[in-house]
Amino acid sequence: SASPLGNSVIPIVNKLQDIIAQLGSQSTIELPQVAVVGSQSSGKSSVLEALVGRDFLPRGSEICTRRPLVLQLLQTKRNPDGTDEEYGEFLHVPGRRFHDFSEIRREIKLETEREAGGNKGVTDKQIRLKIFSPNVLDITLVDLPGITKVPVGDQPSDIEARIRTMIMSYIKIPSCLILAVTAANSDLANSDALQIAGNADPDGLRTIGVITKLDIMDRGTDARNLLLGKVIPLRLGYIGVVNRSQEDITMNRSIKDALVAEEKFFRSRPVYNGLADRCGIPQLAKKLNQILVQHIKAVLPGLKSRISSALVSVAKEHASYGEITESKAGQGALLLNILSKYSEAFSTMVEGKNEEMSTS
Ligand code: GDP
Ligand code: MG
Repeated sequence: SASPLGNSVIPIVNKLQDIIAQLGSQSTIELPQVAVVGSQSSGKSSVLEALVGRDFLPRGSEICTRRPLVLQLLQTKRNPDGTDEEYGEFLHVPGRRFHDFSEIRREIKLETEREAGGNKGVTDKQIRLKIFSPNVLDITLVDLPGITKVPVGDQPSDIEARIRTMIMSYIKIPSCLILAVTAANSDLANSDALQIAGNADPDGLRTIGVITKLDIMDRGTDARNLLLGKVIPLRLGYIGVVNRSQEDITMNRSIKDALVAEEKFFRSRPVYNGLADRCGIPQLAKKLNQILVQHIKAVLPGLKSRISSALVSVAKEHASYGEITESKAGQGALLLNILSKYSEAFSTMVEGKNEEMSTS
C-alpha cells in the first residue's frame, strides 16, 4: 500500500509524467523538499518515519540524528507478478540494495558514527539515502539534527549556532516545506521550531506546525488551543500527533499498531472532538498532499507553455524537412487539452471537494 505521504498525489503525478513522456518532452514535475525542524527529541524523526510508513530511522531519547539525512523517495514499477520490491541504497555504499529496513537503520547509525564519532558529535556532512518503492512519490525528505543548547560529549561550545546554521541552509530554500515540530509538553512560546521556521519563512507560507507528544502532557492540560492556533497563529495551521513512546520503540511496536493507538487516543478524548482535521498522522499526510497538489497546480501553466513551445519548434523542424506534421501536432493539442482538464480537476481537489481523482 502507498505510504501516507503521497497517497492521493501519486496517481496524479504518474498520469502527468505519462503525458509528458508521450510528448517526448524533457520536462518533469519537481516536487518541493520537506524538512523537519525543532528541538532535540521533539519527535522529528518519528514524524518523518510515520509519513513514509516504514521503520528505518534511528529514534530515541538522546541525540540520535547527528547528520542531516537526505532521503530521496523514488517510485519504481511494480513487478510483473504484482509484487512490490522495496529497498534502500546509500550513496556511501554504492551498488548494495538494503531490502531489510532495520539494516537501513543500522547503517545510518554506523555511518553517523564514522563521520561524527561515537560521542554525540554533530556534523553537517549529509547521509544520502534513496528508497525505491512502487508505493512512494518522488519527493525528498530531510531529517535534521535538533536544536540543543548545552554542549554534551564531543560537541563544541558553539553547538547551538552550528546546528542553527545547518538547519537554515536547508529551510531557507524558498520551495522547501517546513514541518516545525514542537512537543506538547514544552512551551510553544519558546518553540525552537517555530522560531527558526519564522526566520526562514516569515510569512508562514510554507510552514506547518506539528505538535507531538499529546499523550504525555501534564494532567489537566490539553493542546486544544494550540491546535486552534490561539496560542501562536500559523497560516497553514497545526496538526497534533501521537508517535511511539520510548517504551514502544524498545518493545518494537509497529507503525501500524501505533496508528491504531493514535486514532484511539483522539477518539477517546472529548477535548479533541470537532478537531478531527487537526489530529493525527493521516491528517498531516493529507495536509502535505494538499500542499503538493497546490504546488503542481501552480507549476502547470509553466509546464504547459514549455510543452507548447517544444511542440511548435518540433513542428517547424519537421516542416523544414517537408514531413507531414499534422498527426503529431494533433496529438500534442490533445495532450495539452488533457493537461488543462487536469488543472481544473486540481482546483476541485485543492478545495477538498474531491479527495480521490480518477486517473482513467
Ligand atoms: P527527534 O530527536 O526530534 O528526531 O525525536 P525522536 O523522533 O527521535 O523522538 C525522541 C523521543 O521521543 C523518542 O524516545 C520517541 O519515542 C519519543 N516520542 C516522539 N514522539 C512522541 C509522542 O508523540 N509521544 C510519546 N509518548 N513519545 C514520543
Ligand atoms: Mg531525530
